[in-house]
Amino acid sequence: MDGLNKNNLELEIISKESGGFISANRNIFNNIELSDNSKFILNQAIKGTPMIKIGGSYPNLMVVAGVHGNELAPQIAALKLIDKVFDMDLNGTLYIIPFASPKSTMDNSRYFDGIDLNRSTHLPNSITNVILKKAKELNVSAIGDFHSSAPNSNPGREGVFCTQKPCDASFFIADYISKKVGSEKIIYPVAGIPFKGALEDESNLAQIPSVTCEVLSAIGYANERICERSYLQMIAFLEYFGIIDKE
Ligand SMILES: [Zn+2]
Repeated sequence: MDGLNKNNLELEIISKESGGFISANRNIFNNIELSDNSKFILNQAIKGTPMIKIGGSYPNLMVVAGVHGNELAPQIAALKLIDKVFDMDLNGTLYIIPFASPKSTMDNSRYFDGIDLNRSTHLPNSITNVILKKAKELNVSAIGDFHSSAPNSNPGREGVFCTQKPCDASFFIADYISKKVGSEKIIYPVAGIPFKGALEDESNLAQIPSVTCEVLSAIGYANERICERSYLQMIAFLEYFGIIDKE
């Protein structure tokens, strides 16, 4: 990376109980391109959940990965996204959380201290609760939460989850990503059923449009092709809001 970047990268640790050594998980570390940004973020993740801010105008948008620490592709894709947008003119501000729970990622685990963070957003001071509070405080226009799904699990295919109520904007975001990337759109009528405590659901219930994007990947595994699928979902999410220009 040269010294001619268009943006400043600001980093804030938003939860101090979740720190971990990402490099101790070779399954993810071996797939990370070690740019200056990535190295900086990995070092900071030892202290807790890092949130990166890039850009300076509106709208504000939040990209989250690693809510399930053993779903590696979206976390790698989030680092790639940071490097990509770092050199771009952005029509807005991005808040990117590449590792929601670095400790879970270090442990290659779905759980944080035995808790499924995508079922605990409604619980005070859970890490996802802290993330949602941040999103409210920052007045973000939407949250994109990026996961992977193992074959033979639920949904077990590449998809974009959304609910129609209470934020129908979520449906249109999912529709755009689905059409652009070719991920299946998976629609539920009302947020909170059946996924109580999911970041996406609690975000929608808080009137912040939100979608959950899934790529198909074995758990605790990543390769370049799978990371690219997650990355393309993220790019489409940004495009929908005009933060970056449509390709
Ligand atoms: Zn997940």
